[in-house]
Order: sequence, then structure tokens, then C-alpha cells
Amino acid sequence: FKIGLRSNCISRAFLTKSSIRKFSASKLEGKIALITGAASGIGKETAKKFINNGAKVVIADIQTKLGKETATELGTHASFISCDVSKESDIAHAVDYAVSNYGQLDIMFNNAGIACHTPPTIVDLDLAAFDRVMSINVRGVVAGIKHASRVMIPQGHGSILCTSSITGVLGGLAQHTYSISKSTVVGVMKSAAAELCRYGIRINCISPFAIPTPFVIEEMRVYFPGVDDQGLAKMIHDNGVLRGAICEPEDIANAALYLASDDAKYVSGHNLVVDGGFTSIKNLSF
Ligand code: NAD
Repeated sequence: FKIGLRSNCISRAFLTKSSIRKFSASKLEGKIALITGAASGIGKETAKKFINNGAKVVIADIQTKLGKETATELGTHASFISCDVSKESDIAHAVDYAVSNYGQLDIMFNNAGIACHTPPTIVDLDLAAFDRVMSINVRGVVAGIKHASRVMIPQGHGSILCTSSITGVLGGLAQHTYSISKSTVVGVMKSAAAELCRYGIRINCISPFAIPTPFVIEEMRVYFPGVDDQGLAKMIHDNGVLRGAICEPEDIANAALYLASDDAKYVSGHNLVVDGGFTSIKNLSF
């Protein structure tokens, strides 16, 4: 990473000529995707990526005005449904909206999440705030998996994605509540993968490094009140470890495209960490 080289292990089979050809084609032709938290940031970038690869995307978000603007910006293959993922009925409604409008649901991306502005120490943990974060970051994901599965099991196929975080891998990087919520998302994903594989449904997580999207900037303003947004974004980028690169929403969208598509047709129960090597360093206690 210090000289800007990435090193990962991949199987030889993945690098066949046919898979390289497939990689450059439209990977999601005819697919229907539902993405929560897609009015902004990672979800929006993923919606754009999916549409550019042939999918139709339902943008589900609690921010109605921004969500509608995003759908308009992304064009006729995007539509918006108002959805608060902490309410099971909203998730059920969003899934039903996708099926009644487009006839199926191939991809469910449980991406909506929030941070938590409470004191960072365990002794001072605000359990009411904890419940609120868990209701969105964990319960919202569980409800998304439940209702997507309701449709995908009879279909006999589907790809479910969930957004975790490097804090879910390492713990201790962010404030407890957020870290706990994101490591739980990985556990939920693994538990669901064990059952859903028998129906031909894959489920995976993506764990991004820090990206200066609205919710991260908002959270950092609390801890660094004297620093402007540009300065906060710079602080995030300066903490990256892969020389010559910064983590951007499109990096996560690319990971989501891979996991959602048939390129990952035998990948399930996996947490794809997109962090430029950050967690490897931390695991080695550098
Ligand atoms: P963002 O603020 O740009 O987007 C989050 C979206 O979720 C917003 O559009 C917001 O309106 C929506 N949302 C919030 N609460 C909701 C609810 N109850 N119901 C429906 N929608 C809701 O931030 P982002 O960085 O794109 O975050 C997306 C996901 O990525 C989150 O789960 C976050 O925890 C995760 N993540 C982000 C980073 C990062 O550094 N940006 C790192 C790791 C993980």
C-alpha cells in the first residue's frame, strides 16, 4: 500500500477470458433493484452505476424532496419511494412498490444508515440514542432482508447487499453505538446467508473506508467544530493509507455492482472490505 500497489488473493478461475469479457458488458440488464438511503452518497452513486449497467432502480429514502430530485436526476430508469427503514411497514411497502411497478425484485441493497452524536465512552452511553441507531442500522437491514426474501424466495433468485463499515470489522474506530451496529450487520448477513443459499439467494456486505458524505461530515462537525467541511473531508482523505487514491462513493458502487451481478454468482456470506488496506494495517497493530 505504501507504494500504491493493491494485493488481494483471487482464484484463477475468476480470470478466464469469458469473465473478463462479461466484466465489460452491461451486467445488470433487465434487473430491478431497490436501494435504501439512495437519495445521497453511496446509495445514489450505486443507483447511478446500476442504471448505467442496465438496471431499473427504486430509490427508497426518508428524505422525500432530495430523493425525488435524485430520481429525476438519474432519469426514467429511477423512481422514488418514501421510506423510513426503521418502520417495517415502510420497507414492506417499498418492496411491494418495486414488484407491482416492475414485476420482480432482483437486487435489494440495505444501505441506509446513520451515525450517532452521543458521548464516546461506554460509561456515558446514551441507550435511547443506541436504540434509535439500531432501529435504522440493524433493524432496518433485518426488515429489508425479510421483505426482499419474501419476494425472492418464490422467484428462486436474488442478490441482497448490506452496508457495514470498517468500524464493524475493527470496532473501536468510531463511537461504540455505530461500531456495534455495523458489526451486527455483518452477523445478520452471515446468519441470513446460511438460510438463503438454499433458495438461490446470495447476500453479502460491503464495508467502506471513511468517505466525506453528508452523514459523516455532520458527525465530524460535532467533534471538530472549528474545521470547515473541506477541512473535514481532507482529514478523512489524509487518514487513508493507499497512496495515490482516496475512497469515493464510486469505489463502493463498483463493489456493489460486482456483488449484485452474475460476476459474483458464487459469492455469498462475504463482507467485502473496501478500505485501501486500512484494516490490514490495523490488524497488524502498526
Ligand atoms: P449519506 O448521508 O450520503 O446517505 C445516507 C442516506 O440514508 C441519506 O440519503 C439519508 O436520508 C438516508 N437515511 C437515513 N436514515 C434513513 C431512514 N431511517 N430510512 C431511510 N433512509 C434513511 O451517507 P453515506 O455515506 O452514503 O451512507 C450510506 C451507508 O454507508 C450508511 O449505512 C453508512 O453507515 C455507511 N458507511 C458510510 C461510510 C462513510 O464514510 N461515508 C463508511 C462506512 C459505512
